Amino acid sequence: MSNVLIVAEQGGGQLRKATLHAISAGRALAARTGGALHVALLGQGVRPLADALAATGAEVHVADAPALEHPLADAWAPVIAEIAKACGAAYVGAAATAQGKDLLPRVAARLGAGMATEVLGFGGDGAAVTFRRPMWAGNVLAEVEIATPVKVFTVRATEFPAAEPGAGKGAVHEVAVQVPAGLRTRHVAFREVKSERPELTEARVVVSGGRGTKGDFKPVEALADALGAAVGASRAAVDAGWVPNDWQVGQTGKVVAPDLYVAAGISGAIQHLAGMKGSKVIVAVNKDPDAPVFQIADYGLVADLFQALPALTEKVKASK
Ligand SMILES: Cc1cc2nc3c(=O)[nH]c(=O)nc-3n(C[C@H](O)[C@H](O)[C@H](O)COP(=O)(O)OP(=O)(O)OC[C@H]3O[C@@H](n4cnc5c(N)ncnc54)[C@H](O)[C@@H]3O)c2cc1C
Repeated sequence: MSNVLIVAEQGGGQLRKATLHAISAGRALAARTGGALHVALLGQGVRPLADALAATGAEVHVADAPALEHPLADAWAPVIAEIAKACGAAYVGAAATAQGKDLLPRVAARLGAGMATEVLGFGGDGAAVTFRRPMWAGNVLAEVEIATPVKVFTVRATEFPAAEPGAGKGAVHEVAVQVPAGLRTRHVAFREVKSERPELTEARVVVSGGRGTKGDFKPVEALADALGAAVGASRAAVDAGWVPNDWQVGQTGKVVAPDLYVAAGISGAIQHLAGMKGSKVIVAVNKDPDAPVFQIADYGLVADLFQALPALTEKVKASK
């Protein structure tokens, strides 16, 4: 029997949505291995969030201490490693967010564990689990076997549904925290980007612009606002300095899988597709009928975005 431990992510007094997706991956894994599902919740003043996690049926381990206020991998990794040992976890996972990517390799090192990152699904037979993960910007899917007794992984949240409340409520345990002295990092500041629009990775609808906008994102933003959407961008638009870095979608940007993704003036390079091809419905607006983006689009509009987007925006507004 191999227990599974998922590390929760929280901020601003709320659980991050990606955590529920990671829990659903953990639940699938526990069902395969016959183990129990555990969740580690770290931070300061986070105890009230434990009940929502326990409602998924997982057993929750809460480490609530001033030293854990900020998600410093240096401080959190030893605590998670201790929780993993205490609950007999053979699998330790988290969402492949900036925090998960920072934290989990350190947890793996402490547990002497092999690690698979950005996992899309589980393969193999019964309890012999393999990890499916993308390589070469998602053009190749590798099936990875981890040979160490403890296995660490991060999952792409877009590939797993959000965990619903389980049949039963899991127990909640308080963990005595021992953060080692002499940490090599310290928290200086957290500068949150405030926006009226939904967060890119959590939005139901994303409207993205590329080099075809020639730096004028007004039609992209107007359509996004009419749809209540987040705004994304190709790397070409970000590199040109037209829009902020945190709007970038793709291999070296954010991975999104909204219900609707509109790509305007974006050619569809593989590195961009790597970040959005899991979207449920893809609409491409491009004036080049041979643009590669049309190969993955559900709806393609061969048009000038400066005419098509305002027309679409008017239609959306009129339908409200
Ligand atoms: C290691 C690496 C990592 C990368 N990571 C990323 C990443 O994370 N995200 C990413 O996006 N890219 C990434 N790239 C860059 C990627 O290869 C492409 O260069 C980039 O995606 C191109 O952006 P684009 O589609 O906006 O521009 P282009 O490829 O120049 O396409 C512009 C498109 O706009 C169309 N167009 C022009 N005018 C109009 C108009 N008026 N109306 C409608 N359509 C119009 C054109 O027909 C064209 O298809 C990466 C590259 C490398 C090497």
